Amino acid sequence: MLVICDRCHHEDEFDPRQFRCKCGGAWEPWEFESYLPNLTDPNVNSVWCYQEIMGLSEVEKPLSLGAGQTPLIGMPWDKDAAEVFFKLEYISPTGSFKDRGTEVEANYLASMGIRDVVEDSSGNAGASLAAYAARTGLHAAIFAPDRASPAKLAQIEVYGADLRRIPGPRAEATRAALAAVEAGAVYASHAYNPAYLLGQKTFAWECWEQLGGHAPDALVISVGQGGLLLGAWLGFKGMLKTGLVKRMPRLFAAQPELLAPIARAFNSGADEIEEIIPVGKSLAEGLAIVKPVRGHRILQALRESGGAGLTVSEAEIRAAYYDLARHGMFAEPSSAAAAAVLPQVRKLVGEKAKIIVALTGSGLKSPIEN
Ligand SMILES: [Zn+2]
Repeated sequence: MLVICDRCHHEDEFDPRQFRCKCGGAWEPWEFESYLPNLTDPNVNSVWCYQEIMGLSEVEKPLSLGAGQTPLIGMPWDKDAAEVFFKLEYISPTGSFKDRGTEVEANYLASMGIRDVVEDSSGNAGASLAAYAARTGLHAAIFAPDRASPAKLAQIEVYGADLRRIPGPRAEATRAALAAVEAGAVYASHAYNPAYLLGQKTFAWECWEQLGGHAPDALVISVGQGGLLLGAWLGFKGMLKTGLVKRMPRLFAAQPELLAPIARAFNSGADEIEEIIPVGKSLAEGLAIVKPVRGHRILQALRESGGAGLTVSEAEIRAAYYDLARHGMFAEPSSAAAAAVLPQVRKLVGEKAKIIVALTGSGLKSPIEN
């Protein structure tokens, strides 16, 4: 798999044992082939319908759990009854958008002869990797904060992964995983792995197909590490090149006020994210990332697309969580943050704009306790 460093632009054949570039940058997938509808396989009902476009010839026979091909549902949403489209990523094999990336990543790693992998996660990425490790024959050790949602921790264990509960804040789980990587394990990181990011690009292609061959005007995504937002950006960039899309959708990143490194950097005009100390624990536990690995690229995606980094209060997250449920969509609070920024997005893009909101994780994973 050809990759390019997101900092020094060094190009290389990806070696899973070198999870990042020597300069410290993260690898991005080299664009093998831009998306074209006639390159998809209509007989495959998962992300692998795009295998030719992804260019992963290393994966001879993908072991799928059916990630991707999630529903896109339009419905009247705000008080003016303007229609909003919700991309139900929570209808995925393990209940979160992570599967789109992990299905590609795990198959790629297994095809490269890798057997032992580690990951750090607040829950969803760990559960996703645990499931795909079971499917593809990898042995996975998952480092998760011991205060992560009990449902997510139970899910990681039930798939048979080696769950390591790490006390302290989310960043401690990352430090523990990196120590295991130093000791020789392969880092199957949803933050770093380029095959994971490649899988997230399929989100853009699906949205375009489901809107009848059009891009939305705006795309709203809750952001922790920002893999889905970056995948969508890269996916739509390729479609701009081929002329399938005339204009990049405006990308909006939603974060809780309690921990919003991206929104803060965006608003201050910075090109790099500064690590920040959370001022409290948000309901949006899946977004508890103090400094996203690909932060400078996320800022670039927001600015180049004419989007923004937006924040919401805990009360707004809670209200959106119930609002979604009362429209029939049970998404976790981390996903509800994206629905909660909708009034701000509407003001920026106008009443007639076609908006897609990604609902990234299932409400069953971390229901709000009353
Ligand atoms: Zn580099």
